[in-house]
Amino acid sequence: MTSKDTPKDTPKDTSKNIRFPFPGLFKGLGLTGKYLFKKPATVMYPDEKEIPVPRSRGVIALDTEACTVCMVCSRACPDWCIYIEGHKEEQQPEEPGGKVKVRAELDRFDIDYGLCMYCGICVDVCPFDALFWSPEYEYSEHEVVDLLHDKDRLTDWLGTVPDPPPLEPS
Ligand code: SF4
Ligand code: SF4
Repeated sequence: MTSKDTPKDTPKDTSKNIRFPFPGLFKGLGLTGKYLFKKPATVMYPDEKEIPVPRSRGVIALDTEACTVCMVCSRACPDWCIYIEGHKEEQQPEEPGGKVKVRAELDRFDIDYGLCMYCGICVDVCPFDALFWSPEYEYSEHEVVDLLHDKDRLTDWLGTVPDPPPLEPS
């Protein structure tokens, strides 16, 4: 039998082509219903506050006693938003005949949070453990210039830095 012999008026089997109308609509409604009675993922800030995880990146705290004014963090910052100034001071020996030591003193240490992108590079590269992440996040300002935190303010954040996690048993 060739194609010429195929009867043109043979009725097609349409039972396989019948589909439920608007399947997407009912699928969407089903999903909405699924989430309708779930606890919302958002909170009514500032009436309600979420407690961030201890190691979240909220703000950077500075330990001025540990900082040696080495400028490593400032040079590594991709945004150039760390401003450091310092000077050197001679320290007289404690005992006669001892060596005079030279110590770097920190005059200025500012971080501009209007520019910071919270990459954490400064904290990671500091060779003297002088920078720490704090989970504190409530420091928004009306003026962007007020997002420049000086060394006193950065030092104040130290009180909000959580203790390091306990070491794993070896
Ligand atoms: S977190 Fe990143 S962008 Fe912010 S001050 Fe540190 S290095 Fe710069
Ligand atoms: S890298 Fe650390 S020690 Fe060096 S200037 Fe920055 S905070 Fe201070």
